[in-house]
Amino acid sequence: MTITGGCLCGNIRYEAKTEPKWTALCHCESCRRSASAPVVAWMGFALDAVTWHGDRKFFQSSAIATRGFCPNCGSQVSFESTRWPGEVHLYGVSRDDPENYTPDLHCHTQEHLAWLKIDDDLPKHRAVAQMQE
Ligand SMILES: [Zn+2]
Ligand SMILES: [Zn+2]
Repeated sequence: MTITGGCLCGNIRYEAKTEPKWTALCHCESCRRSASAPVVAWMGFALDAVTWHGDRKFFQSSAIATRGFCPNCGSQVSFESTRWPGEVHLYGVSRDDPENYTPDLHCHTQEHLAWLKIDDDLPKHRAVAQMQE
């Protein structure tokens, strides 16, 4: 199967040749600010499973993390960190079929916004989850 997606303007497109290794809803402040959204739906892939079209720009958002975005429309499109070497994390709702995204868990719930009510039964990790196999 192939998962395709991209940024708001269409400049940046990606294709992933596999299902995500894991998925997670992240409530951390860094994700929240970069996306201007209360929570970010991530999906993790091996670096070599994803093909990019268009040139991303990158912002070093912490000592260990780099966030890719479209220089034309500003959409956030990727995340890489030395904490997950060999992986790239994509925004689950940037895919062309966002209804087919399924979150596995919540992470960084200690930074969760109180007004965002969560009533699912997914595992909730106060900090980072063990998202690798
Ligand atoms: Zn764009
Ligand atoms: Zn986060």
